[in-house]
Amino acid sequence: MFGLKTDWSLDIPSRYFILDDYLGNEARWCPGCGDHAVLTAVQRICRDEQLPPEQTVVVSGIGCSSRFPHYMATYGFHSLHGRALPVACGVKSRRPDLKVFVATGDGDCCSIGAGHWLHAIRYNMDMVVMMFDNNIYGLTKKQTSPTSKPGLATNTHPRGSWLPALNPTAATLGFTNVSFMAQTVDWMPAHLHAVLQAAYRHRGLSFVRIAQRCPQYTSKVFEEYVNNPDKVLVLEHQNGIKLDPSLDRFYKTRMTHDPADIVQATAIAHREDVLPIGLFFWDPSRPCYDDFTQLGMDMTPEDKIRALNEEMDRFAV
Ligand code: SF4
Repeated sequence: MFGLKTDWSLDIPSRYFILDDYLGNEARWCPGCGDHAVLTAVQRICRDEQLPPEQTVVVSGIGCSSRFPHYMATYGFHSLHGRALPVACGVKSRRPDLKVFVATGDGDCCSIGAGHWLHAIRYNMDMVVMMFDNNIYGLTKKQTSPTSKPGLATNTHPRGSWLPALNPTAATLGFTNVSFMAQTVDWMPAHLHAVLQAAYRHRGLSFVRIAQRCPQYTSKVFEEYVNNPDKVLVLEHQNGIKLDPSLDRFYKTRMTHDPADIVQATAIAHREDVLPIGLFFWDPSRPCYDDFTQLGMDMTPEDKIRALNEEMDRFAV
Protein backbone atom coordinates (compact mmCIF):
# COMPACT_ATOMS: atom_id res chain seq x y z
CA MET A 1 0.00 0.00 0.00
CA PHE A 2 1.31 3.49 -0.83
CA GLY A 3 2.66 5.35 2.18
CA LEU A 4 2.99 2.22 4.29
CA LYS A 5 6.25 2.38 6.28
CA THR A 6 8.06 -0.88 6.89
CA ASP A 7 11.26 -1.70 8.80
CA TRP A 8 12.83 -3.33 5.76
CA SER A 9 13.49 -2.42 2.16
CA LEU A 10 14.87 -4.04 -0.93
CA ASP A 11 17.88 -2.03 -2.08
CA ILE A 12 17.67 -2.78 -5.79
CA PRO A 13 20.24 -0.88 -7.88
CA SER A 14 18.75 0.90 -10.85
CA ARG A 15 21.35 -0.73 -13.12
CA TYR A 16 23.18 -3.99 -12.71
CA PHE A 17 25.94 -4.89 -15.15
CA ILE A 18 26.70 -8.39 -16.36
CA LEU A 19 29.69 -9.62 -18.34
CA ASP A 20 27.86 -9.14 -21.63
CA ASP A 21 27.79 -5.40 -20.96
CA TYR A 22 31.58 -5.26 -21.42
CA LEU A 23 32.01 -7.54 -24.42
CA GLY A 24 33.14 -5.59 -27.46
CA ASN A 25 34.17 -6.94 -30.85
CA GLU A 26 35.36 -10.51 -31.11
CA ALA A 27 39.03 -10.66 -30.13
CA ARG A 28 41.27 -11.38 -33.11
CA TRP A 29 44.46 -12.27 -31.29
CA CYS A 30 46.12 -15.59 -32.23
CA PRO A 31 44.75 -18.74 -30.59
CA GLY A 32 46.61 -19.29 -27.31
CA CYS A 33 47.75 -15.67 -27.06
CA GLY A 34 47.97 -14.54 -23.43
CA ASP A 35 46.06 -11.36 -24.25
CA HIS A 36 42.79 -13.31 -24.22
CA ALA A 37 43.24 -14.12 -20.51
CA VAL A 38 43.88 -10.49 -19.62
CA LEU A 39 40.80 -9.36 -21.52
CA THR A 40 38.67 -11.87 -19.61
CA ALA A 41 40.13 -10.72 -16.29
CA VAL A 42 39.47 -7.04 -17.01
CA GLN A 43 35.89 -7.72 -18.12
CA ARG A 44 35.27 -9.67 -14.91
CA ILE A 45 36.73 -6.90 -12.78
CA CYS A 46 34.50 -4.35 -14.52
CA ARG A 47 31.52 -6.58 -13.72
CA ASP A 48 32.63 -7.26 -10.13
CA GLU A 49 33.21 -3.55 -9.47
CA GLN A 50 30.03 -2.64 -11.36
CA LEU A 51 31.77 -0.04 -13.52
CA PRO A 52 29.29 1.74 -15.80
CA PRO A 53 30.63 1.14 -19.34
CA GLU A 54 30.10 4.81 -20.21
CA GLN A 55 32.29 5.78 -17.24
CA THR A 56 35.12 3.46 -18.21
CA VAL A 57 37.90 4.17 -20.73
CA VAL A 58 40.53 1.84 -22.13
CA VAL A 59 43.51 3.60 -23.73
CA SER A 60 46.20 1.86 -25.73
CA GLY A 61 49.21 2.55 -27.93
CA ILE A 62 50.22 0.34 -30.85
CA GLY A 63 50.90 -3.38 -30.78
CA CYS A 64 49.00 -6.64 -30.46
CA SER A 65 47.82 -5.90 -26.92
CA SER A 66 46.86 -2.38 -27.95
CA ARG A 67 43.85 -3.79 -29.81
CA PHE A 68 42.36 -4.12 -26.32
CA PRO A 69 39.94 -1.13 -26.55
CA HIS A 70 38.22 -2.69 -29.59
CA TYR A 71 37.27 -5.70 -27.52
CA MET A 72 35.71 -3.77 -24.63
CA ALA A 73 32.22 -2.27 -24.86
CA THR A 74 33.43 0.84 -23.04
CA TYR A 75 34.93 4.08 -24.29
CA GLY A 76 38.34 3.51 -25.82
CA PHE A 77 41.23 5.31 -27.46
CA HIS A 78 43.57 3.31 -29.71
CA SER A 79 46.26 5.95 -29.91
CA LEU A 80 49.74 6.24 -31.44
CA HIS A 81 52.82 4.15 -30.86
CA GLY A 82 54.15 4.79 -27.37
CA ARG A 83 51.52 7.45 -26.61
CA ALA A 84 48.99 5.52 -24.52
CA LEU A 85 50.16 7.07 -21.25
CA PRO A 86 50.00 10.77 -22.22
CA VAL A 87 46.55 10.20 -23.71
CA ALA A 88 45.41 8.43 -20.53
CA CYS A 89 46.84 11.23 -18.37
CA GLY A 90 45.00 13.75 -20.54
CA VAL A 91 41.73 11.87 -20.10
CA LYS A 92 42.25 11.67 -16.36
CA SER A 93 43.19 15.34 -16.00
CA ARG A 94 39.93 16.54 -17.60
CA ARG A 95 37.63 13.70 -16.49
CA PRO A 96 38.86 12.51 -13.09
CA ASP A 97 35.52 10.75 -12.60
CA LEU A 98 36.29 8.18 -15.32
CA LYS A 99 37.90 4.81 -14.63
CA VAL A 100 40.94 4.45 -16.86
CA PHE A 101 42.72 1.27 -17.95
CA VAL A 102 45.80 1.38 -20.16
CA ALA A 103 46.97 -1.47 -22.40
CA THR A 104 50.57 -1.21 -23.58
CA GLY A 105 53.24 -3.65 -24.64
CA ASP A 106 56.95 -4.00 -23.95
CA GLY A 107 57.82 -2.35 -27.26
CA ASP A 108 55.19 0.36 -26.91
CA CYS A 109 55.98 1.24 -23.27
CA CYS A 110 59.67 0.54 -22.86
CA SER A 111 61.00 1.79 -26.19
CA ILE A 112 59.25 4.61 -28.05
CA GLY A 113 57.06 5.34 -25.03
CA ALA A 114 59.78 5.17 -22.39
CA GLY A 115 59.85 8.92 -21.76
CA HIS A 116 56.12 8.90 -21.08
CA TRP A 117 56.45 5.79 -18.90
CA LEU A 118 58.68 7.39 -16.28
CA HIS A 119 56.69 10.64 -16.18
CA ALA A 120 53.34 8.84 -15.92
CA ILE A 121 54.72 6.95 -12.93
CA ARG A 122 55.79 10.28 -11.43
CA TYR A 123 52.36 11.86 -12.13
CA ASN A 124 50.76 8.92 -10.30
CA MET A 125 47.30 9.62 -11.73
CA ASP A 126 44.60 7.17 -10.78
CA MET A 127 44.63 4.47 -13.47
CA VAL A 128 45.58 0.84 -14.09
CA VAL A 129 48.47 0.37 -16.52
CA MET A 130 48.81 -3.16 -17.88
CA MET A 131 52.13 -3.77 -19.58
CA PHE A 132 51.89 -6.93 -21.68
CA ASP A 133 55.43 -8.26 -21.85
CA ASN A 134 55.94 -10.94 -24.49
CA ASN A 135 59.60 -9.98 -25.15
CA ILE A 136 58.93 -9.19 -28.83
CA TYR A 137 57.26 -6.83 -31.28
CA GLY A 138 54.43 -9.17 -32.30
CA LEU A 139 52.20 -6.95 -34.44
CA THR A 140 55.04 -6.09 -36.80
CA LYS A 141 56.14 -9.72 -36.87
CA LYS A 142 59.06 -10.48 -34.61
CA GLN A 143 61.51 -7.64 -34.10
CA THR A 144 63.74 -7.39 -31.03
CA SER A 145 62.06 -5.44 -28.24
CA PRO A 146 63.75 -3.84 -25.20
CA THR A 147 62.82 -6.88 -23.09
CA SER A 148 64.04 -9.53 -25.56
CA LYS A 149 66.53 -11.80 -23.84
CA PRO A 150 70.07 -12.08 -25.28
CA GLY A 151 70.22 -14.87 -27.81
CA LEU A 152 66.60 -14.60 -28.95
CA ALA A 153 66.66 -14.81 -32.75
CA THR A 154 64.42 -12.20 -34.33
CA ASN A 155 63.97 -10.59 -37.72
CA THR A 156 66.15 -7.66 -36.66
CA HIS A 157 68.74 -9.88 -34.96
CA PRO A 158 68.64 -13.22 -36.83
CA ARG A 159 71.71 -14.43 -34.93
CA GLY A 160 70.23 -13.49 -31.62
CA SER A 161 69.58 -10.34 -29.65
CA TRP A 162 72.80 -9.40 -27.90
CA LEU A 163 72.06 -6.47 -25.56
CA PRO A 164 71.02 -7.20 -21.97
CA ALA A 165 67.23 -7.17 -21.67
CA LEU A 166 65.63 -4.19 -19.96
CA ASN A 167 64.01 -5.15 -16.65
CA PRO A 168 60.72 -3.19 -16.58
CA THR A 169 59.89 -4.16 -13.01
CA ALA A 170 63.21 -2.99 -11.57
CA ALA A 171 63.08 0.13 -13.75
CA THR A 172 59.59 1.08 -12.58
CA LEU A 173 60.60 0.62 -8.95
CA GLY A 174 63.34 3.17 -9.55
CA PHE A 175 61.06 5.89 -10.94
CA THR A 176 60.18 8.83 -8.72
CA ASN A 177 56.79 8.65 -6.98
CA VAL A 178 56.03 5.02 -7.91
CA SER A 179 53.05 3.93 -5.78
CA PHE A 180 52.01 0.45 -6.98
CA MET A 181 54.11 -2.09 -8.85
CA ALA A 182 52.98 -5.68 -9.34
CA GLN A 183 53.83 -8.56 -11.59
CA THR A 184 51.68 -11.45 -12.75
CA VAL A 185 51.37 -13.99 -15.58
CA ASP A 186 48.66 -14.72 -18.11
CA TRP A 187 48.53 -18.47 -17.37
CA MET A 188 47.39 -18.14 -13.73
CA PRO A 189 43.89 -16.64 -14.11
CA ALA A 190 43.23 -16.47 -10.35
CA HIS A 191 46.48 -14.59 -9.72
CA LEU A 192 46.00 -12.35 -12.76
CA HIS A 193 42.51 -11.44 -11.58
CA ALA A 194 43.63 -10.80 -7.98
CA VAL A 195 46.51 -8.56 -9.08
CA LEU A 196 44.41 -6.51 -11.49
CA GLN A 197 41.66 -6.15 -8.90
CA ALA A 198 44.16 -4.88 -6.32
CA ALA A 199 45.53 -2.53 -8.99
CA TYR A 200 42.06 -1.21 -9.71
CA ARG A 201 41.37 -0.59 -6.02
CA HIS A 202 44.62 1.29 -5.46
CA ARG A 203 44.25 5.05 -5.77
CA GLY A 204 47.13 6.22 -7.93
CA LEU A 205 48.90 4.72 -10.93
CA SER A 206 49.04 0.94 -10.65
CA PHE A 207 51.70 -0.48 -12.93
CA VAL A 208 51.27 -4.18 -13.63
CA ARG A 209 53.78 -6.09 -15.72
CA ILE A 210 52.12 -9.16 -17.17
CA ALA A 211 54.32 -11.99 -18.48
CA GLN A 212 52.35 -12.66 -21.65
CA ARG A 213 52.80 -15.69 -23.86
CA CYS A 214 53.09 -15.14 -27.59
CA PRO A 215 52.81 -18.62 -29.12
CA GLN A 216 53.37 -17.11 -32.55
CA TYR A 217 56.84 -15.58 -32.04
CA THR A 218 58.20 -16.23 -28.53
CA SER A 219 56.62 -19.53 -27.59
CA LYS A 220 59.61 -20.61 -25.50
CA VAL A 221 60.38 -17.56 -23.36
CA PHE A 222 58.07 -18.43 -20.45
CA GLU A 223 57.93 -22.18 -21.09
CA GLU A 224 60.09 -23.17 -18.11
CA TYR A 225 57.79 -21.25 -15.73
CA VAL A 226 54.61 -22.64 -17.29
CA ASN A 227 55.89 -26.22 -17.14
CA ASN A 228 57.54 -25.98 -13.73
CA PRO A 229 55.45 -24.11 -11.11
CA ASP A 230 58.36 -24.38 -8.66
CA LYS A 231 60.15 -21.75 -10.78
CA VAL A 232 57.40 -19.24 -10.04
CA LEU A 233 58.06 -17.33 -6.81
CA VAL A 234 54.77 -16.21 -5.24
CA LEU A 235 55.12 -13.13 -3.02
CA GLU A 236 52.93 -13.19 0.07
CA HIS A 237 52.04 -10.62 2.72
CA GLN A 238 49.01 -9.44 4.64
CA ASN A 239 49.20 -6.19 2.63
CA GLY A 240 49.91 -8.02 -0.60
CA ILE A 241 47.76 -9.89 -3.09
CA LYS A 242 45.12 -12.10 -1.52
CA LEU A 243 45.66 -15.47 -3.12
CA ASP A 244 43.03 -17.97 -4.13
CA PRO A 245 43.57 -21.17 -2.05
CA SER A 246 43.29 -23.17 -5.28
CA LEU A 247 46.84 -21.98 -6.10
CA ASP A 248 48.36 -23.58 -2.97
CA ARG A 249 48.56 -27.08 -4.42
CA PHE A 250 50.64 -26.11 -7.42
CA TYR A 251 52.62 -23.03 -6.45
CA LYS A 252 54.68 -23.94 -3.43
CA THR A 253 57.64 -21.61 -3.93
CA ARG A 254 56.67 -18.74 -1.66
CA MET A 255 58.33 -15.73 -0.07
CA THR A 256 57.05 -13.26 2.49
CA HIS A 257 57.57 -9.79 1.12
CA ASP A 258 56.31 -6.57 2.73
CA PRO A 259 55.25 -4.34 -0.20
CA ALA A 260 56.37 -1.28 1.80
CA ASP A 261 59.98 -2.47 1.43
CA ILE A 262 61.23 -1.02 -1.86
CA VAL A 263 64.81 -2.19 -1.30
CA GLN A 264 63.76 -5.84 -1.02
CA ALA A 265 61.30 -5.32 -3.90
CA THR A 266 64.14 -4.17 -6.14
CA ALA A 267 66.31 -7.13 -5.12
CA ILE A 268 63.46 -9.53 -5.94
CA ALA A 269 62.90 -7.81 -9.30
CA HIS A 270 66.50 -8.64 -10.26
CA ARG A 271 66.22 -12.36 -9.49
CA GLU A 272 66.71 -14.50 -12.57
CA ASP A 273 66.53 -17.96 -11.00
CA VAL A 274 62.75 -17.66 -10.59
CA LEU A 275 59.87 -15.60 -11.96
CA PRO A 276 58.57 -13.54 -9.00
CA ILE A 277 54.87 -12.62 -9.04
CA GLY A 278 52.75 -10.56 -6.68
CA LEU A 279 52.80 -7.09 -5.20
CA PHE A 280 56.33 -5.73 -5.20
CA PHE A 281 55.62 -2.24 -3.92
CA TRP A 282 52.66 -0.31 -2.58
CA ASP A 283 52.55 3.15 -1.03
CA PRO A 284 49.06 4.70 -1.03
CA SER A 285 50.38 7.94 0.48
CA ARG A 286 52.20 9.11 -2.67
CA PRO A 287 50.81 12.36 -4.18
CA CYS A 288 48.52 12.04 -7.22
CA TYR A 289 48.75 14.70 -9.93
CA ASP A 290 44.99 14.39 -10.65
CA ASP A 291 44.35 15.95 -7.23
CA PHE A 292 46.05 19.05 -8.67
CA THR A 293 44.80 19.00 -12.28
CA GLN A 294 41.18 18.90 -11.22
CA LEU A 295 41.46 22.13 -9.21
CA GLY A 296 39.18 24.76 -10.68
CA MET A 297 37.28 22.37 -12.91
CA ASP A 298 33.98 23.57 -11.49
CA MET A 299 34.70 27.20 -12.43
CA THR A 300 32.29 28.92 -14.81
CA PRO A 301 33.66 30.59 -17.96
CA GLU A 302 33.11 33.96 -16.23
CA ASP A 303 35.13 32.78 -13.19
CA LYS A 304 37.93 31.66 -15.49
CA ILE A 305 38.06 35.00 -17.34
CA ARG A 306 38.07 36.87 -14.02
CA ALA A 307 40.87 34.69 -12.66
CA LEU A 308 42.83 35.07 -15.90
CA ASN A 309 42.49 38.85 -15.77
CA GLU A 310 43.63 38.92 -12.14
CA GLU A 311 46.63 36.84 -13.06
CA MET A 312 47.52 39.08 -16.03
CA ASP A 313 47.13 42.19 -13.87
CA ARG A 314 50.02 40.99 -11.76
CA PHE A 315 52.25 41.89 -14.71
CA ALA A 316 50.74 45.32 -15.34
CA VAL A 317 53.24 48.17 -15.17
FE1 SF4 B 1 49.40 -12.63 -29.42
FE2 SF4 B 1 51.82 -13.01 -30.47
FE3 SF4 B 1 49.66 -13.40 -31.96
FE4 SF4 B 1 50.36 -10.94 -31.23
S1 SF4 B 1 51.54 -12.31 -32.57
S2 SF4 B 1 48.28 -11.79 -31.20
S3 SF4 B 1 51.16 -11.28 -29.17
S4 SF4 B 1 50.27 -14.58 -30.15
